[in-house]
Amino acid sequence: MGKSVMYYDDLTKFIYLKFLHPNDLPPDLLNIGWLDSEHVFPTDKIDPLVLPVIKKMVFNERSLHMTRGYYFCPFCTISHPIENHPVPASIELGGQEKSLGSGTIIIQGKTHAYAFPNLLYHYISDHKYKPPHVFIDDVLSYY
Ligand SMILES: [Zn+2]
Repeated sequence: MGKSVMYYDDLTKFIYLKFLHPNDLPPDLLNIGWLDSEHVFPTDKIDPLVLPVIKKMVFNERSLHMTRGYYFCPFCTISHPIENHPVPASIELGGQEKSLGSGTIIIQGKTHAYAFPNLLYHYISDHKYKPPHVFIDDVLSYY
């Protein structure tokens, strides 16, 4: 815990879990946002329209379940308000709450298909992670 179990460079080919879904994933899925505490990641301000779209994707797009538990953010610890144990980051949309850290979102963008952890939302909002331009462009033209 406190350490992510996997790291992939942005825009490399997504292969994790592929053996479980050999036929129903886009053939050229690219990794986005597989960060850990041992690799420096790019940070910057990004278009404020990006986060609301990613939130919508986390709630509405295809999600592969990754583990039985949660991956916790490798950069911060969010503690339960009463009991003293770490809890996953979460987001809320229209009164629905979703825990981040157990799902991989699959989207087919305009230029590429991408696989990203749903923690991507938290990485951008809380840790200023800046994904590659091509991904941001595809997100902004998605809906
Ligand atoms: Zn965090």
